Amino acid sequence: MNSKVWLILPAYNEDELIAETAKRLDEVLNKLIENGKLSQDSRILFVDDGSSDDTWKKIAELHNSNDRIKGLRLAVNAGQQNAIYAGIMQAKSENVDAVVTLDVDLQDDIEKIETFIDKMNEGYEAVFGVHNERNTDTFMKKHTAIVFYKFMKFMGVNVIENHSEFRLLSRTCIERLSEFKEANLFLRGIVTKLTKNYILVDYERKNRLGGTPKFSFNSSFELAVNGITAFTLDPIRFICVFGLAITLFSFLLLSKCLFVFTLWFFGGLQLLAIGIIGEYIAKINEETKKRPRYFIDEIL
Ligand code: UDP
Ligand code: MG
Repeated sequence: MNSKVWLILPAYNEDELIAETAKRLDEVLNKLIENGKLSQDSRILFVDDGSSDDTWKKIAELHNSNDRIKGLRLAVNAGQQNAIYAGIMQAKSENVDAVVTLDVDLQDDIEKIETFIDKMNEGYEAVFGVHNERNTDTFMKKHTAIVFYKFMKFMGVNVIENHSEFRLLSRTCIERLSEFKEANLFLRGIVTKLTKNYILVDYERKNRLGGTPKFSFNSSFELAVNGITAFTLDPIRFICVFGLAITLFSFLLLSKCLFVFTLWFFGGLQLLAIGIIGEYIAKINEETKKRPRYFIDEIL
């Protein structure tokens, strides 16, 4: 079977990597076209997420010399999640059979793209790359990631451990994805809701090809909060149950002198509880505004 597949890469200020990444992916694509796994009209799509450097210039140059390379330019930085989504929707409008999303820095193993395609041909509707080794991550990144996945699981969010954005989504999943209208996109939470017919493929995460990571600790934290508030009500429920338990327990303390401790401890807890509830309300506020996720400036 030779399928029409688009490789989609979000790029934010990655001008030094675009050319090398395009070259390597073009080789992979050519090989897959030659051995009959992909059709001639398969493409590589770079989504420029409102970069301020020469990212778009590089994409345009590549497009001029190789029509297999395409570009989508977002008007302002919309964030990696929205950039990926924009790319997938562009591919959808061109009737692709599937998309493979990955990062421009090629930390994901592009040799596995062939395995992804094979799995699709075996009948899987989605393929998720899972990197079980985190040797290339910094100490901080590695440990925050471990805590992140454990915490998400504990909070009842169905995310696949050590799966980031390296995945294949078939036509069916793309159609279903397009029906998720939330402003706070958290793709890792959504993709497990698109089909139960998916498979995991292990790979080793590599070092960045070059350049610097574009995710600060703050943006990773924001993504984690988005993931939790968008996919589970457990934290709020936990507060309710805990509040009730405390109220009942406080009757036992009536005659004791734990006054000061109790005051501070529960003062803090109350603030935390209000904060968590506030976080959900803020999310509702953003959703009700129905803001556009991104603006497209140019399509190549
Ligand atoms: N990225 C993006 N928009 C942003 C931040 C990042 O499109 O606002 C892209 C970035 O260019 C890269 C991918 O998202 O292709 C992952 O970013 P990075 O490598 O910095 O993240 P990490 O590997 O640390 O998760
Ligand atoms: Mg990276």
